[in-house]
Amino acid sequence: MSIENELKSGNEHDLKAKIIAVTKTFPISEIKPLIDHGHLHYGENKVQEALEKWNEIKKEVKNIKLHMIGKLQTNKVKFVVPLFDYIHSLDNLKLAQKISSEQKKINKKLKIFIQVNIGNEDQKSGIHKNEVMSFYKKCINDLSLDIIGLMCIPPIKGDKNEYFKLMNDLSKSIGLDELSMGMSSDYLEAISHGATYVRIGSKIFGERS
Ligand SMILES: *Cc1c(COP(=O)(O)O)cnc(C)c1O
Repeated sequence: MSIENELKSGNEHDLKAKIIAVTKTFPISEIKPLIDHGHLHYGENKVQEALEKWNEIKKEVKNIKLHMIGKLQTNKVKFVVPLFDYIHSLDNLKLAQKISSEQKKINKKLKIFIQVNIGNEDQKSGIHKNEVMSFYKKCINDLSLDIIGLMCIPPIKGDKNEYFKLMNDLSKSIGLDELSMGMSSDYLEAISHGATYVRIGSKIFGERS
């Protein structure tokens, strides 16, 4: 069953999840059939690769929405703000400040997710769950960012449901509407815990080499 049908066959709650087709490492030639089919949301994790792949096609197909889902360095923000529509990986204040200043320069506001280090893992980026509320307040009050939700990449080990539930609780406690969670291996669990954006790569395009 195709992933879209799989989502549509579920309960009403499932319909709320948008699919971000994660196109990293795949050339536009392999993505084109999906674009022609009318799919709108695409995700990339590297700025340079995204610029090369999407600059032209985004001018041609105006309603495409591009999502930055990977670790973002402050010195790349000036390229990200003009090209992308969403950022899922806001994980520190310096980055938030840079996004704010670049947005002002071109009078554009991206929709932004705060990345949460929900498993409290040393090697992963993201804001600690106890600090998300104060970080969120700084982002909206001091920097007037358009924060629409929270994002996570849960630990590989352990019960994903537990982490997705924590994310849902956290998001509700702050009063945010959107939740970016769930990848090829765990998107159904993520949706059952209220994900509104799932980020799917290999289940659409095959394994990356
Ligand atoms: C690559 C990537 C995905 C998609 O992973 P798949 O397992 O191929 O679905 C989702 N989110 C992020 C942040 C990624 O880097």
